[in-house]
Amino acid sequence: METLNFLTPELISNAISQIGSPAYVYSRETIEQRCAEVSAFPNAYGLNARYALKANPHLAILKIVEAMGLHFDASSEYEVMRCLHAGIPGEKIQLTSQQFPREHLTEIIEAGVLFNACSLRQIDAFGKAFPGSNISFRVNPGTGSGSNRKTNVGGPSASFGIWHEQTDEAAEIAAKHNLSITRIHSHIGSGSDPEVWKAVTEMTLAQADKFPTVHTVNLGGGFKVARMSSEKSTDLQEVGEFVKSVFIKHAENTGKEYKLEVEPGTYLSANCGSLICDVDDISSTGEDGYTFLKLNTGMDTITRPALYASEHPIIILND
Ligand SMILES: *Cc1c(COP(=O)(O)O)cnc(C)c1O
Repeated sequence: METLNFLTPELISNAISQIGSPAYVYSRETIEQRCAEVSAFPNAYGLNARYALKANPHLAILKIVEAMGLHFDASSEYEVMRCLHAGIPGEKIQLTSQQFPREHLTEIIEAGVLFNACSLRQIDAFGKAFPGSNISFRVNPGTGSGSNRKTNVGGPSASFGIWHEQTDEAAEIAAKHNLSITRIHSHIGSGSDPEVWKAVTEMTLAQADKFPTVHTVNLGGGFKVARMSSEKSTDLQEVGEFVKSVFIKHAENTGKEYKLEVEPGTYLSANCGSLICDVDDISSTGEDGYTFLKLNTGMDTITRPALYASEHPIIILND
């Protein structure tokens, strides 16, 4: 059975009379609870949690997340600007973008934002602009998990990051510009297969070992979040204990104790909000057909079903 989650019929009619319909309604309490869960991610040598704001960049949500002590991952220079305009200090923001900044690079870096290079070209372009600084880079570890190819962000079918066989080249380009690689980043995809977590963690740690200046390993986001009652969310404690044991074993073998970063987006915002709407019309295609409810909302307000064929609970409140 699907449930109203944090909503009640009273809250819904209040929202509609105050805001109108359709309306998005978010629960501060649920967001705070998710932030607390992510901040409690098991770790061996320290943890920094970021919110990947492309999941929901609304100012009100950024403020709640910041107040809960999380840092941020921006997937474009414009998302960085959004954070800066929200009053978030640059040191708390990391830029991980497919596109190298074209407008705000200097402003962003001078504000203290951490640059996470996503390609060889990005390392080179950044090095030319800011020789001698610290960077991190995103590696494509060669494998990933995700519910389908569209959300699989590792492996040969993913364009994200520097292919794991090209990280020596990354080191050469960084050295040419006197850049110091202090953090390594990979992104696990939106799956919850513990074997994939283990493989990606081990491969990312192995990459980190190549660079003596690395102190932090970022495993990205992608904790699966159940929307339908038939689905199962990633258990953060379970996956986290798993990741922690890999870090500890690695430290025993190599002497390297890396700080861990995680940066979920979806986990911190999905199921924290609902879309309230009205039935505008009802039509039917006969006995062997269907009954259609026509709503005053659609693909522009909730994109995931169209984009990923994902299911979301729909609850009808009255007759
Ligand atoms: C989207 C994204 C995330 C978060 O992924 P979710 O599936 O929303 O948790 C983390 N890191 C980077 C670099 C991303 O682009």
